Amino acid sequence: MSAGKRTDEHGYGRTGLNGTMEMPIYLDHNATTPVDRNVLEKMLPYFCEVYGNAASIDHIHGNKAKQAVDEARQAIAKVLGCRKESEIVFTSGATESINLALIGAFRRFKDKGNHIISSAIEHPAVLDTLNYLQSEGAEITRLPVDRNGVVDLEVLEKSIKKDTILISVMFANNEIGTIQPIKEIGALAKSKGIIFHTDAAQAVGHEKINVYDLNIDLLSFSAHKFYGPKGIGGLFVRSYSPLIKLSPISFGGGHEKGMRSGTLNVPGIVGMAEALSLSIKEMSYENNRLRKAAGVICQRLQQTFPDIKLNGHPQNRLAHNLSLTIPGVEAKALIHRLKNRLSFSTGSACSTIKVEPSHVLKAIGLADDETFQTVRLGLGRTTQGAAGIADILIDGVNHVRK
Ligand SMILES: *Cc1c(COP(=O)(O)O)cnc(C)c1O
Repeated sequence: MSAGKRTDEHGYGRTGLNGTMEMPIYLDHNATTPVDRNVLEKMLPYFCEVYGNAASIDHIHGNKAKQAVDEARQAIAKVLGCRKESEIVFTSGATESINLALIGAFRRFKDKGNHIISSAIEHPAVLDTLNYLQSEGAEITRLPVDRNGVVDLEVLEKSIKKDTILISVMFANNEIGTIQPIKEIGALAKSKGIIFHTDAAQAVGHEKINVYDLNIDLLSFSAHKFYGPKGIGGLFVRSYSPLIKLSPISFGGGHEKGMRSGTLNVPGIVGMAEALSLSIKEMSYENNRLRKAAGVICQRLQQTFPDIKLNGHPQNRLAHNLSLTIPGVEAKALIHRLKNRLSFSTGSACSTIKVEPSHVLKAIGLADDETFQTVRLGLGRTTQGAAGIADILIDGVNHVRK
């Protein structure tokens, strides 16, 4: 069966599984990215040929798998600026990494205090975990953000108390693209002896990150946000100044220094390392290209509809993300109208029954009706022809706008 014709050196398909249907243009790279065909090729031998359990080191099959895991761990640790490769713990993705970081740190350090500081615009993986921790006795402060979605360092400093044990602020926001002053937050945490976790699912593979330079203690990431496979991710756990040990949240064979039991996903780990090194190689070229493309889409739209507003920080933002509020246009209606031509998302998170206004858009000061008139365009490696994309959107807005 054909998986669609290859379009470029990354091999991303433009047709559906039957190889005939031309798929819409994909503009949801903040939700997930296609697997780079080079990444897939690297992974393939680890399914049917090198299939040993990386923990079975008494025989060659296991050793070969362990060797692949070790090399991947080294490569990822190097890219992120770790001191040791053992600072990388493999998980099933950012959601699990975040759960392990927050729950693991809270349980480990709760004799020192129960106060956690976070922001109002975190991903549900952080928000829901913090809500859960309240039931274990945690007290949570959720910092407001300004119009651009940035945490105020003075407010952060003032909210620190004697019993603050953890600060968790995301690196880059998945809805509006704003990048936080991570190094400054980390320095503040460090000066007070507080552990600093950052959800970097949107930033790893897209922004330069050196965990030690940026004063990060714990950092969560996920391969499928940077052209790797779904279901594999990692957590950086600092081992030097200070040495951090997390309480495990699942139990089994004591893998990953006792922090995350379970047989390692060897193909996923190999794929994640390859995806990260490819992303780093192309980062500056790709970010320049996508920043220009995003600029073209935004300007072309605003030329036709001057009331369209870009959300998020004007400069300190992900190159590939556009959050646009289009007054008078329901995001859902626009997405539906254009569904055969473009695949993109609303700015609002929806539950199955009821559509809630996005907590991120509300936190930056949008009114409820504005949050429902907001779309998120996630550009990426598959994105070509920015002007054409803008024209499709203009056509859609003209039809939907009342
Ligand atoms: C995607 C994402 C996550 C969750 O990643 P999973 O791979 O789905 O577990 C967490 N935080 C942010 C900011 C994300 O963008």
